[in-house]
Amino acid sequence: MKKINFSAGPSILSEFAIQETAKAVIDFAGTGLSLMEVSHRGKEFTAVINEARALIKEILEIPEDFEVVFLGGGASLQFCMAPFNFLEKKASFLDTGTWANKAIKEAKLFGEVNVVASSKADNYTYIPKDYDVPADSDYFYYCTNNTIYGTETKKDLSFGNMPVIADMSSDIFSRRIDFTHYDLIFAGAQKNLAPAGVTLVIVRKSALGRVSRAIPTMLDYRTHVDKESMFNTPPVLPIFTALQTAKWYKQLGGIDALHKINEEKAALLYDEIDNNRMFKGTVTCKEDRSIMNVCFVMADEYKDLEDEFYQFATAAGMSGFKGHRSVGGFRASLYNAMPISGVQALVDTMKKFAALK
Ligand SMILES: *Cc1c(COP(=O)(O)O)cnc(C)c1O
Repeated sequence: MKKINFSAGPSILSEFAIQETAKAVIDFAGTGLSLMEVSHRGKEFTAVINEARALIKEILEIPEDFEVVFLGGGASLQFCMAPFNFLEKKASFLDTGTWANKAIKEAKLFGEVNVVASSKADNYTYIPKDYDVPADSDYFYYCTNNTIYGTETKKDLSFGNMPVIADMSSDIFSRRIDFTHYDLIFAGAQKNLAPAGVTLVIVRKSALGRVSRAIPTMLDYRTHVDKESMFNTPPVLPIFTALQTAKWYKQLGGIDALHKINEEKAALLYDEIDNNRMFKGTVTCKEDRSIMNVCFVMADEYKDLEDEFYQFATAAGMSGFKGHRSVGGFRASLYNAMPISGVQALVDTMKKFAALK
């Protein structure tokens, strides 16, 4: 039986993307060669990467001044590449959890870091809202969806004309993005796009080249923008899968259609969490609840049944829904490729479990 994959990342991919990739691994574009053994500069792969760039621009409605590049190193490399390229003196950060902290740590190597607000004292169960961002910051940085804690900032933050940089690793392609204030958006592909190995970077071209420091060639966004992600060998296979995922997104109706389905899926599960006496959500502020990563625990009276529920749901075909060790309980990741039937199966399992007790 195919399992229902709620894993936080690497995570579920569409059947379409998996099948198309499997075919190309055997015979890529009728070349008689595997996708894994062809030149990245050959005309077949060049067509793939160009189509992937174009289709991602089309789906997210990315403005002209931006370029889409595919880089290695994971989202984590962006924690240092972003300040390397954009931090001259001082940058402001919103501390919403582990991933934001990793970005803060790297930025400190390049300049002054100002943390405008933090929900750390409450184990990141909400997103801080009232804070000032000093106008002399080179940019404001935040992580839009906190994969571990299940909190999400659902609209694009802006502070006057200050440039904004965002880690959208776990919610890119879940909603429409207003690019007006962003200079840089990045996302590790393994949550909502492709297998691990490629990072999607969307960078404003006119914002590059402003810092005074020297930047190593591979860590300079300009290198990859100028060479259209072909400065060195890009991660060929994940880029191929990213294209298949993008084709599937377009076929589903594009970004607004994806957002609508995601909201429906999340509402279905949150509704069960709120109404089933055995469970409770971990995010204290409901408007901050992520539509991608739904975190919940057993209600206090049923704490000792956590392992039993885990075994029960596993036996029913669910996989990858254990909460992160820093939160505990359960985390159901409802990325784009998760069908509503998968969420319904989890909800039914929660109902059945409650009926047994
Ligand atoms: C998974 C994740 C990362 C880390 O991505 P890597 O590709 O493993 O470096 C960073 N930020 C967020 C929000 C994530 O969910």
